[in-house]
Amino acid sequence: MTKILKYKHPLRDDHRATCLTCMDGRIQIPVINWIRRSSKVKYVDIISGPGMDGILNRPHAQMDSILTGIKISTKTNHSSHIFVVGHFDCRGNPVSYETHKEQIIAGAKKIKKLFKSYPITGLWVNSHWRVKKIIELI
Ligand SMILES: [Zn+2]
Repeated sequence: MTKILKYKHPLRDDHRATCLTCMDGRIQIPVINWIRRSSKVKYVDIISGPGMDGILNRPHAQMDSILTGIKISTKTNHSSHIFVVGHFDCRGNPVSYETHKEQIIAGAKKIKKLFKSYPITGLWVNSHWRVKKIIELI
């Protein structure tokens, strides 16, 4: 008897989230693991820059490549959720925790205005490399 294998459409197994985060290698794995667990996604598209929470708050920041990345991740890759991340000991954005928190919240709100139909979550990675939720905009 021939065993019939179920065909699995590649997109069925391709649930994604989008993550705007720092380039710092110390936070990538904790952040990806946290997002995969909390959002039940398989992949996390990473859009990174040095101190991303700071970049999102600069009035004249070069947003073009960031917005292009978010558009590809959401429209083409069908991401369902966008995350904005800041972290402890960020050398690309060396500001206090309070400032990071304000920037994560403001950055999440800025992205929400541009991508209204997507939930946006702001995350903080602390000194133990644990991920904490700062804000959630549904
Ligand atoms: Zn950083």
